[in-house]
Amino acid sequence: MTTTTGSMVSIDEATTATQAVFEVDNLYKVFHTDTGGVMALRDINLDVRPGEFLSFVGPSGCGKSTLLNVMAGLLPPSHGEVRFKGAVIDAPHRDIGMMFQTSVLFPWRTVLENVLMPIEIFGWDKKKYRPRALELLEAVGLESFVRAYPAQLSGGMQQRASLARVLLYDPSVLLLDEPFGALDEFTRENMNLELLKIWTETGKTVIFVTHNINEAVFLSDRVVVMTPRPGEVARVLDIDLPRPRVLEVMKDQRFADRVFEIRELLGVA
Ligand code: ADP
Ligand code: MG
Repeated sequence: MTTTTGSMVSIDEATTATQAVFEVDNLYKVFHTDTGGVMALRDINLDVRPGEFLSFVGPSGCGKSTLLNVMAGLLPPSHGEVRFKGAVIDAPHRDIGMMFQTSVLFPWRTVLENVLMPIEIFGWDKKKYRPRALELLEAVGLESFVRAYPAQLSGGMQQRASLARVLLYDPSVLLLDEPFGALDEFTRENMNLELLKIWTETGKTVIFVTHNINEAVFLSDRVVVMTPRPGEVARVLDIDLPRPRVLEVMKDQRFADRVFEIRELLGVA
């Protein structure tokens, strides 16, 4: 869905009775440790709309990664459930792509072989995917590093390779856990703009975790603001800024208003 204004979004929603991509119902997550239980998530309720760009924002330790991992089917809930396209998710799903804060590339494999790794794991025909892998590596600016090893790449380049890897098997949903958080601000901004371009072109549903409020507002259709641990949904904000988002959007009064609103909710105003 590539709508440009807030009003078009509501028309879309009125005319197409689309099912939520994710339904999170009464979700609790408690970790049991030697020193007792840690409640990471408390009573999370949330619907994710098809094609939307949704961000989770909250302080470190508030349960963002835990929530994403439960949604990815990597962690079981303690109570409640998560449904993906109507079915309870209890294992990783091929239509959900996950990206982590630091790249999990295999050091002994070339960039191209790393990008082809999921194809190998799924038992798909690697030869068939090779041209597309090269195309994606070019799209993320790594065409000269196809045969390089991860250690030869900067952190930003490693995350580009990770992005190409998750895009190769073409999941309709991307779960991105602070994917560019370890990068310098300039690289991060560029990666964010690239991500927006990919999102616009592919219509994928993106769930983006960050502790950077500006970034969340700049990128998203909606921002889920979480409370400190145990993580609860403090508020879900609609971001009524025009698309395509260009950096000038940050000069818009509405941008400043949303950022301030989130800062107040997080107690950092
Ligand atoms: P965030 O991603 O928002 O920084 P996390 O989801 O990583 O937060 O963690 C939420 C809380 O759950 C933290 O207090 C963290 O210490 C705790 N936690 C996360 N994973 C585990 C685990 N495997 N065992 C015990 N505690 C955990
Ligand atoms: Mg985290």
